[in-house]
Amino acid sequence: MDIEQFRKAGYQAIDRICDYYYSLREKPVVAQVEPGYLRKALPDHAPEKGEQWDAIADDYQSLIIPGLTHWQHPSFFAYFPTGCTFEGMLADLYSSSACNPGFNWLASPACTELESVVMDWAARMLGLERTFWNISEVGGGVIQTTASDSALTAVVCARTRCTTLNPDVPHSSLVMYVTSHTHSFGLKAARILGLRVRTIDVDDEVVMGKDSEEEVDGWGLGVNKLKEALKEDLANGMKPFILVATVGTTNSGAVDRIDEIGEYLAKEHPSIWLHVDAAWAGVTLACPEYRDRAQLAGINKWVTSLCVNFHKWGLTNFDASALWVRDRNLLIDALDVTPAYLRTKHGDAGTVIDYRNWHLSLGRRFRSLKLWFVLRSFGVEGFQTYIRRCIKLNELFASLVRKSDIFELVTRPSFALTVFRLRPQAIFEPSTLVSTSPPTSSSITATAPTSDKEDPSSLAFLNALNRAMHHELQTSHTHEMLLTQTEIRGVFCLRLAVGAARTEERDILRAWEILNEVGEHVLAEAQSGA
Ligand SMILES: *Cc1c(COP(=O)(O)O)cnc(C)c1O
Repeated sequence: MDIEQFRKAGYQAIDRICDYYYSLREKPVVAQVEPGYLRKALPDHAPEKGEQWDAIADDYQSLIIPGLTHWQHPSFFAYFPTGCTFEGMLADLYSSSACNPGFNWLASPACTELESVVMDWAARMLGLERTFWNISEVGGGVIQTTASDSALTAVVCARTRCTTLNPDVPHSSLVMYVTSHTHSFGLKAARILGLRVRTIDVDDEVVMGKDSEEEVDGWGLGVNKLKEALKEDLANGMKPFILVATVGTTNSGAVDRIDEIGEYLAKEHPSIWLHVDAAWAGVTLACPEYRDRAQLAGINKWVTSLCVNFHKWGLTNFDASALWVRDRNLLIDALDVTPAYLRTKHGDAGTVIDYRNWHLSLGRRFRSLKLWFVLRSFGVEGFQTYIRRCIKLNELFASLVRKSDIFELVTRPSFALTVFRLRPQAIFEPSTLVSTSPPTSSSITATAPTSDKEDPSSLAFLNALNRAMHHELQTSHTHEMLLTQTEIRGVFCLRLAVGAARTEERDILRAWEILNEVGEHVLAEAQSGA
């Protein structure tokens, strides 16, 4: 393809992308194809001779698009959202056109300098204190591929710090801490690095909501569980060296008590690295009214490193995972390996950031461009408006659940996530189901998994109902909407996460309609079967 052919193909591609967005609402949310559909449609070898571009471009439309699950669909409520804006797409296009692996300043000064500036903009927007800004030259921010990479980087560097300070401690004594609600990347990091891991079980650490005595605010790590675990491990000669805590867990949006944990670690175990994974919920820090709930004070005061994914709920196209550290030398001490061919005058003089020493790989994509485009085009205000709008839509959904006779919340809605389940009040009176529930209460405490006393037979029955509900949603309704499931303390729940940029109130209302139709159907089947 030459330059003029590219011009033509490029215009066509943009036109087709616009058409895709115009028709997105009418598309099935989930690809309605069978496994292996594409292999059947494609030849089993690359063509011997190059093909015409038109044929290639048309095959994207006819073969690939039908096999896409549309994460940007207004009725996509599964997992967590994936940020996507036209600003982000254009940035990806430009960065792809410059196509350079920007591993050090000299490899492309603009890539390094823009990242260092834009990460400071983002840090300020989220309210992070100056230590975390690049301009402080103490800590700083770097864009990683994913939250998993950010966490892996933190664990690698924490390990180096620990073994440097304690050269006599054998590798087999090192142990990293996660909780039972930490993202699975914690266990994966431990496996990759051959480390012991201790999972602190927080399933009975119920945090009650401040503004509602009755609603469970989730399962978060507090200081007591941590103390117990540390005491036991230290007595056994173990060397805990990092704790991965979470603000906004994937399961239920729960928040570990960073202020409390951080203060305790700083006082009693200052050598333990505190990494906070705020991959999903971290962007809420942009709004002052959520900073308390998202633990900004604790983060600013205590954490060693913090991860926030802008590619999730932060309007920036995948991938852009922000990692901030309080002290950049913690990264560089562990990761700086400089052979002769990578040495530069500026690097040697320490006058520039060499981002290759801030993450695991050498080459890196020019990701700051999309964050720059997004933050400039939206402004901090536009960014805040978007976050608030998603939370408001989620509150609308939660209010419908609260009023429902057949659904209930399992935890208090967290930011833009609602975890709920089918639990019909009419045919299952709380008094017959849950021995300890107050007779008048239809509230969450009566039935949620927080009540240890939920009758096992009713739990099994409700789980079966909810599995049936989920199954029906996944088999017959994925063209209309998508949500995913989770399990908390043995309770099977459904999760609805708001965040696709095009979701509107009517999409929430439509989802609610579908859920009720399916819920009623599942209940009718259960009753006729009983
Ligand atoms: C999504 C998510 C992750 C994983 O994010 P990746 O960027 O895909 O690695 C980790 N932690 C939390 C809390 C998440 O929500």
